[in-house]
Amino acid sequence: MNKHVAGFKRAAVFVLCMVIVAVSGVFPQARAQTLEGLKDDYNKLQQEMEENRNKLEQIQSQMASNEDKLIILSEQAEAIGGQLDNLNSQINLLNKDIAVYDKEIAALDKKIEDTQAKITKAKDEIDETQALISERLRATYMAGSASWIEIILESDDISSLLLRMQLLASVTENDNALIDRLKEETKKLETLKKGLDEDRAEVDSKRAVLLDKKSELDKKANALTSKQNEFNANYREISNIMTKLDKNSNAYKTELAKQQRQKEAFERQIEQMVANGSQSGDNDYSNDGVMMWPVPYKNSYISAGYGYYDPEDDGTYTFHSAIDIVVRENGVNVSQGKKLVAAQSGKVLTRGYSNVGGNYLTIDHGDGYRTYYGHCSKIIVSQGEYVEKGETIAYMGATGYVTGPHVHFQVMKVVNGSVQKLNPLDFVNPPN
Ligand SMILES: [Zn+2]
Repeated sequence: MNKHVAGFKRAAVFVLCMVIVAVSGVFPQARAQTLEGLKDDYNKLQQEMEENRNKLEQIQSQMASNEDKLIILSEQAEAIGGQLDNLNSQINLLNKDIAVYDKEIAALDKKIEDTQAKITKAKDEIDETQALISERLRATYMAGSASWIEIILESDDISSLLLRMQLLASVTENDNALIDRLKEETKKLETLKKGLDEDRAEVDSKRAVLLDKKSELDKKANALTSKQNEFNANYREISNIMTKLDKNSNAYKTELAKQQRQKEAFERQIEQMVANGSQSGDNDYSNDGVMMWPVPYKNSYISAGYGYYDPEDDGTYTFHSAIDIVVRENGVNVSQGKKLVAAQSGKVLTRGYSNVGGNYLTIDHGDGYRTYYGHCSKIIVSQGEYVEKGETIAYMGATGYVTGPHVHFQVMKVVNGSVQKLNPLDFVNPPN
C-alpha cells in the first residue's frame, strides 16, 4: 500500500447564517492498532457526527421557519392580488361609464356648436336686414323733399300718389317682419342652446364624480401594487436564503453520510478486535500451514479487493481489510446459500451477529493466525468447535451491511495482543 492518504480532511466553510462548518474526518486506521486507540478514534468520530447533526438540525429549523414565512408571504400576496383584481374590475367599469359620458359630451358639443352657428347666422341676417332698411331709409331721406315733390309731381292724381307711398311703406313693413321672425328664431335657438349647455354641464359633473372615484381607486390600486411588490421582494429574498440553506444542509448530509461509512468501518474493526482481543493468539493447532480458498466453487471471484478504495469516487478513501468473494453464474451473483469452508483447520473462536458483519465467525488456526467470514446466511459450527480444513462451516448470505450476498473474508495475525489484518491473497489464491 503506497497510496498516501491524509489522516484528516477539511470540508468547506460556509459563512451563511454565521454557521461555520469545519468537519474533520478521522481516517480509520486499518492495520496494527490497539483497541484503545481505535475506540478513541471512534468516539471522536461520533462526537463530530453529533456536532454535524446539531448543525444540520439548526439549518433545518431555519429552513422550516423560512418556509413558514414564505407561506405567509404568498398568502398575503395572494390576498392583495384578489383585492387588486376587484379594484381593477371596478376601475374598468368606471372607465366604461366615463367613456359613455365622453360620447354624450361630444354629441352635445356638436349640437351646441351647430346651434351656435345657427344663432350666429340668424344674427347676421338680422344685422344685414337692418342695414338694408337703414340704407333704404337714408337713401329716401337723402333724396329729400325733392323725391317726395317728384313723386307728387309725377303722380297724375292723388290715388297714384297714395299707391306710390303705400309701396314704399310695404317694403319697410316686410323687412321689419323678417327681422321679427329672425329675432324670434334666434330667441328659440338661444333657449335650445341654453338647454344644451345645461345638459352638458350635468353630464360633465357626473363625469367629474366618476373621475374622482376612479382616481381614488387608482390610488388604492397603486398602494396595493407597491405592497405586493414589497411582498414579492421579501419572497425572493427568503427564497434565495432557502436555496443557500438547502445547499448548506446538503453539504452536511453528504459529510454525515461519509462519516457514517467511516463509523461502520470502525465498528467492524472494533467488533473484530473485541472478538479476538482477549485471546493471546499463541494457540497451536497442528495444520499443514497452507490456507485454501474458502469458497469451494470454480466460478467464485473477488468482488472487492484488499486495500484503500474510494466507494463514492469522491476522494474519500476507506480501507478494506479483507477480500469480498462472490459466486457468479453468467455474470449473475448466485452467492446466496453457497457453502463456505474453513480455509485452514482450527478452532471456532467466535460466532455472532453484528449490524455490520451480519452473521460472522472467526477461526483460530494457531500461531496467531485467524480467519474471519462475514455476512453468512447461516453458520453451522459452534464456538469452541474444532474444524478441519475444507470443512463446511457456514453458508453465504447478505446479512449485515451489504449491497448483495458475498463473504467478507479476512486473514489476521495477532501479535502481542494487537490484530494485524493481512492481505488474504498472500495466503489464498482464487480459482480463476
Ligand atoms: Zn468486505
